[in-house]
Amino acid sequence: MGSQSADIVTGASSDIRKASLTQQLKRWFLKERRSLPWRDDPSPYAVWVSEVMLQQTQASVVIPYFERWMEKYPTIEDLAHASLDEVIKEWEGLGYYSRARNLHEGAQFVVNMYGGQLPHRPEELKKIKGLGPYTIGAIRSFAFYQKAAAVDGNVMRVIARLFMVQEDITKTRTIKKIREVTENLLPDEEPWIISEALIELGALICQRKPKCTRCPLKGTCQSFIHGVAEQLPVRSGRKKVESLFRAVAVIGYQDHLLVHRGKKGEIMHDLHEFPFFETTEGGMPEDELIQKVRQQFHLDVSIKKLLPHVRHSFTQYRVHLYPFYLSCHEPKPVRHFQWMTVKELEKFAFSSGHRRIFASCNLRYL
Ligand code: SF4
Repeated sequence: MGSQSADIVTGASSDIRKASLTQQLKRWFLKERRSLPWRDDPSPYAVWVSEVMLQQTQASVVIPYFERWMEKYPTIEDLAHASLDEVIKEWEGLGYYSRARNLHEGAQFVVNMYGGQLPHRPEELKKIKGLGPYTIGAIRSFAFYQKAAAVDGNVMRVIARLFMVQEDITKTRTIKKIREVTENLLPDEEPWIISEALIELGALICQRKPKCTRCPLKGTCQSFIHGVAEQLPVRSGRKKVESLFRAVAVIGYQDHLLVHRGKKGEIMHDLHEFPFFETTEGGMPEDELIQKVRQQFHLDVSIKKLLPHVRHSFTQYRVHLYPFYLSCHEPKPVRHFQWMTVKELEKFAFSSGHRRIFASCNLRYL
């Protein structure tokens, strides 16, 4: 099937009438496109920030973060001069924090190397931390109006269906093929409109469950014509979702709480979390939690409050957190943890589940 699918890509791209397809797509996009803050003012910096935020995150979630970010760091220089803790705090809740660290480091690099102006040549953009082929394509296309394909997950899905690509889209060979087909689709005149229209079509119409009857390209889409749209794209080796159950101990002494800050190399690098213990569905009995805290941290504690159950996800994990607020009778130093005041903690970022636990403590329990 592998080589046959490759032929389908090459063959189909020459078979269908490119000009008519792009015209239909352009017409649809100019009528239906969403008004998004980064589209209204596509400065190179705004495009960079928005494209990084949009990786793994929906536009509706990104909008308030983007607006706050641009208000707080209106220029690349402002971002470069901010502290990393401040930047991570601004990112809190968006997840995949390496994106924020890379943006911060990238901004410092752009200030040092390019006087605070984002360069437009791909070989220079490649040197900036965190910029991969998609983001470079997006910046070149939307900020500098160059003829450059921006192939993200949405575009992969649209192209794989339009040309009925039956190969595994996680394979480098297929990704390369899809990028070539996308580049080939871009017209010489206003190519950035087609780049953005493909992304928008994937976000609004050609979703995981495609809305083919509303699609402007259904007349030429090979997978729709052959009735296989929902079976494509082929994606192998998807990681299985795993459930984790954790009992969380929010240990307080006066206005201090015991927290761990994720170290470099840990998934929660630079993020704060309360102590937790792996358990099973339904949580851990209070006595067992007290016992664990005594054994592991040598702290004498008593339960003050059961806090609401929190669910959150990271990478392939679905995590169930069962938190308790415990009061500590005598605080002692605990290896890899620190006692921090609530006021101090408000300035730092938590992982998303633990941030909700921190908020649910409501501080009146302290
Ligand atoms: Fe996607 Fe269906 Fe449109 Fe084809 S017709 S591009 S599968 S939404």
